[in-house]
Amino acid sequence: MSELSAPATADDVEERNLDRLRQHFAQRVSHQSHMVLEAWIRLNRGEWSTEGLTDLELGCERLARYAQRFDQGEHLELAEQLQNTFSQVRDNRNRPSSGQIQQLTHLMQNLSKTGLRLLDDQSALLRPQARKPVYVCLSDSDKAERIVQQLLFFGLRAQRLDKPSDFQKAIADRHPSILMMDVDFGGPNIGLSLAQHVQESRPDRLPIVFYSHQPADTRTHIAVVRAGGQALFNDNLDPARLLEKLDALTSQTLEDPYRVLIVDDSRAQAMFTEQALNAAGILTHALTEPLKVMTALREFSPDLIILDMYMPECIGPELARMIRQHERYVSTPIIFLSAEDDLDKQLIAMGEGGDDFLTKPIRPRHLVSTVRNRAERARTLKQRMVCDSLTGLYNHTHTLQLLEDALHRAEHSGEPVSFAMLDIDFFKKINDGHGHPAGDRVIKSLALFLKQRLRRTDSIGRYGGEEFAVILPDTDADAAAKLLDEIRQRFSDIHHPVPNGELMCTFSTGVATSQPGLSAQQLCSQADEALYQAKHGGRNQVCSHTHRGE
Ligand code: GH3
Ligand code: MG
Ligand code: MG
Repeated sequence: MSELSAPATADDVEERNLDRLRQHFAQRVSHQSHMVLEAWIRLNRGEWSTEGLTDLELGCERLARYAQRFDQGEHLELAEQLQNTFSQVRDNRNRPSSGQIQQLTHLMQNLSKTGLRLLDDQSALLRPQARKPVYVCLSDSDKAERIVQQLLFFGLRAQRLDKPSDFQKAIADRHPSILMMDVDFGGPNIGLSLAQHVQESRPDRLPIVFYSHQPADTRTHIAVVRAGGQALFNDNLDPARLLEKLDALTSQTLEDPYRVLIVDDSRAQAMFTEQALNAAGILTHALTEPLKVMTALREFSPDLIILDMYMPECIGPELARMIRQHERYVSTPIIFLSAEDDLDKQLIAMGEGGDDFLTKPIRPRHLVSTVRNRAERARTLKQRMVCDSLTGLYNHTHTLQLLEDALHRAEHSGEPVSFAMLDIDFFKKINDGHGHPAGDRVIKSLALFLKQRLRRTDSIGRYGGEEFAVILPDTDADAAAKLLDEIRQRFSDIHHPVPNGELMCTFSTGVATSQPGLSAQQLCSQADEALYQAKHGGRNQVCSHTHRGE
C-alpha cells in the first residue's frame, strides 16, 4: 500500500486477524446457505420430488449447525424455521399445504437476502460478486487480462489461468460459476479436451463458453457443443456480449411458486385439486362461491385459473367471459375442469375464453403438468409484455406500476423507498461519433451493469431512450445516493469497445425518497428535478431531491 500510516500495533494486528477469521466463518455459512438456495431452485424446476425435499432438509440441518457454530444468529433462525417447516411437510407424507409452500418461499427469500448482507458488509447494498469465480483460459494472455478486467468492472470475480496445469489446479480447488475456454488453450484442440474432461467428472454440466482465435469450422463447433459449450466466440471478443451470456447463465433467480385460483362449488373436488397441485409446490386458493371471483383475483393474483363447469350461481363459461372482460386478466390462462365429456359443450366453453378443458377424473400428474406448462407460458408472455426488448429491463409503464406497488408496500412497512432516474451524458455524441449500434451497445452495457450491481429486490427499468429508472425498496435517501454514486463511479471507468477503438461514458442521476402521502407521480417528478440539477451541475454526478438547498 502506498498510503502513509502509523505503524500497526499488536492490537491492530490482532483485530485484523480476528476480522479475517470472522470473514472466513461468515463465508462458510453463506456458502452453505447458497447450497440450500440452489437445492430449492432445483426442487422448483422439477415437480417437488421426495429426494429433493430430503436434500433440502439435510442442507438446512447443516446450515443450522454451521450458523450455530459460527455465531450467525440470523442464519440460524432462518435455518431452524426452514427445518421446522420441512419436518411438518415430511410428517404430512411429503404433501405440503399452500401455507407451507408460502412459508418456505418466504424463508428462502429471506435467506437469499441474508447472504447479501453478510458477504458484502462494506457496501451492503451492492449485489455480491457472483459467488464462484469465472475462469478465463485463453492462449493470448493479454486478451485474457482485458476480459478479466472488464468482468471485474461488472462485479464478476474473474480469474485468468495461463496454462493447462494452472487450469487443472484451479479446477481441483474449486469449480467456477462459468468457464471461458480457448479451444486451443495450451495447444491445438487441447482446450476442448480439457473442457470435455471436466464435464465428465461432474454429475451436472458446467456452463462453458468457448473461444476460437480463427473462425471455427463445423467440426470444431460440433466438438464445442459436445463438450457442453453454450456459445462459441470468435476473434471479435466483445466483453458486453460475453457478459450478456454470463448474465443469462449465472443469474439464478428465486422464482415465486405458481399461483392457481380454483373455483369449484364442490369443496371435496376443490380439495382434491388443491392437494394435487400443492404436492408439486404450486400455491392454490380455492373458492366455492363463484360470485366472489373478482375479489379473489385481485387479492391472490393467480398465474392461472381453474374453473368448474357447472355451479349453482353461474356456469364456468359465463364466469370465464366475465373475467376476460377485465383488461388485467385478458391473458391469464383459464382451464375448465369438469366431468362434462360432451365434446360440443367443451368446445363452446373454450370459445368463451377458456384455454383448455380437462375432464374429471383426472390423474394428478396430468393436471400438474398442464398447469405448469400453461402457467410458465403465461409468465413468459407477461414478461415479454412488461420488458423492453433491447435491454430486457422493465418498460416505462411497468416501472411506474412497480413504483406504485413499492410505495403501497412501504406505507404498510414504514420503510423508505428510493427512486432514481439515470440519464447517459452526451449520448448524442456517442451516436454521432460511433454510430447508432455502438450507442445501443452502451445502453445494453449500462443495463447489464445495473443488473449486476443492484439487489434482486430492486427493480430496474428503461425509462426512455438512454434513460433508466431504479426502484430501491427499504433504502433511505443517503444510502441510495451513496450506492448510486458508487455505481456511477465504477461505470465511468469502463472502456466500451466500439468499431474504431473504445469509448468511455458517464451518466447523471437524480434521486428522490418516499414520504408519507407522496404519490408515485410526485416521486417521479422529484427525481426528474434532481436529475435536471445533476445535468446542470456539470453531469457525471448524483443529486438527491431531499438534499436540495443544503
Ligand atoms: P445529456 O447529457 O443532456 O443527456 O445529452 P444527451 O445527448 O445524452 O441527451 P439527448 O436527450 O439530447 O439525446 C439523447 C439521444 O439518444 C437522442 C436519441 O437519438 C438517442 N437515442 C434514444 N434512444 C436510443 C436508442 O435506443 N439507441 C441509440 N443508439 N440511441 C438512442
Ligand atoms: Mg435524455
Ligand atoms: Mg442523455
